[in-house]
Amino acid sequence: MILSKKMEAIEPSLTLKISALSSRMKSEGMDVVGFGAGEPDFETPEYIKEAGKRAIDEGKTRYTAASGILELKQAACDRYFKKYGLKYTPDNAVISSGAKHSLYNVMQVLLNPGDEVIIINPYWLSYSELVKMADGVPVFVDTREEDGFLPTAESIEAAVTGKTKALIINSPSNPTGAVYGFELLKDIAAVCKKHGLAIISDEIYDELVYGNEIKSIACVDDETKALTIVVNGMSKAYAMTGWRIGYVLCDSRIASVMSSMQSNSTSNPCSIAQYASVAALSDGEKEVENMRRVFEHRRDIICSLIDDIPMLTCARPSGAFYALCSIKSALGKSYNGKLITDDIVFAELLLKEKLVAVVPGAPFGAPGYVRLSYACSEENIRKGLGRIKEFCAAVE
Ligand code: PMP
Ligand code: GLU
Repeated sequence: MILSKKMEAIEPSLTLKISALSSRMKSEGMDVVGFGAGEPDFETPEYIKEAGKRAIDEGKTRYTAASGILELKQAACDRYFKKYGLKYTPDNAVISSGAKHSLYNVMQVLLNPGDEVIIINPYWLSYSELVKMADGVPVFVDTREEDGFLPTAESIEAAVTGKTKALIINSPSNPTGAVYGFELLKDIAAVCKKHGLAIISDEIYDELVYGNEIKSIACVDDETKALTIVVNGMSKAYAMTGWRIGYVLCDSRIASVMSSMQSNSTSNPCSIAQYASVAALSDGEKEVENMRRVFEHRRDIICSLIDDIPMLTCARPSGAFYALCSIKSALGKSYNGKLITDDIVFAELLLKEKLVAVVPGAPFGAPGYVRLSYACSEENIRKGLGRIKEFCAAVE
């Protein structure tokens, strides 16, 4: 049977594939240390679980409005007002089944065939596939490790053509951990305003920032806010990956088209998870701060252990829970007689020989790098980095 050529060309999510592989190896009894998944190792906080159980007991188990319940839309708007002073109303909100689903909907609603979307490289690997699934064309703007993987407004403007429709920014970034300062956001906003570009701002890691102040690009001014589609979700800050709730805040016309689309595709996201998310957003401050502190501590540990391995370098992440390490010094050398030609071979050898799972940089647009997620225990971090150190010491 002939399948859709467009969908057959889509790459499976390698981050999900590697975490499934390391879980399988663990279940087969292997002592794998997993730095693959960008998934907090914390349990969902008790008060959120309780709200989910309450929703079941109270019979909140039916269809809701396709675009989500009013209480959750309001809670998302309240969060953005409290954190950033941004005013949104429920008309601006659509709740979906995870931020990935929100991003899928955004691309479907925004793009016509051939529209270009600028992506800052290195990037979260699903962005390019999400753009392609909507018949768009991803256009990459490179950044450098020496610049902390931050782009410049000039490099973004240089990529703008007559077909450019949107720019995706992701601060804090997966996979680099870069956090964009407000001056940079203002410069980027100026380019988007000048060329009338939509700004898709993926803010899913905005609670996981270490030391720096974080702003949404929508804070720049009203004109920028009108161009911005904020994407956020519950997975990372609230340890709710399996509950599958994400949301967008944007212009009400875009929200309305998205809601029509969702009403004909997935309908509402899980009602129980929506009620649990209301509790998460309304009462989460203390729990979120506790988890943020733990991640910051892990960031400090992983960075100092990486610094201790001469073969690796890593721009210090200021947010999220990823360290993007350069393995360029290992390329062209061998481990146990096996030639390390690229980051994919490096990651394969590390898994096979040392039982450490990392994600190669190539699918993030970062060949010569590997990504380590430090959303895992301190014990894991120490054990895994110990093995990576031994591995690197044997590379010659
Ligand atoms: N954006 C980024 C940058 C991510 O790393 C992820 C990871 N899951 C998502 C969006 C999607 O998150 P979810 O679908 O679990 O809400
Ligand atoms: N976003 C996380 C990651 O990059 C989870 C996996 C995924 O959704 O791709 O590892």
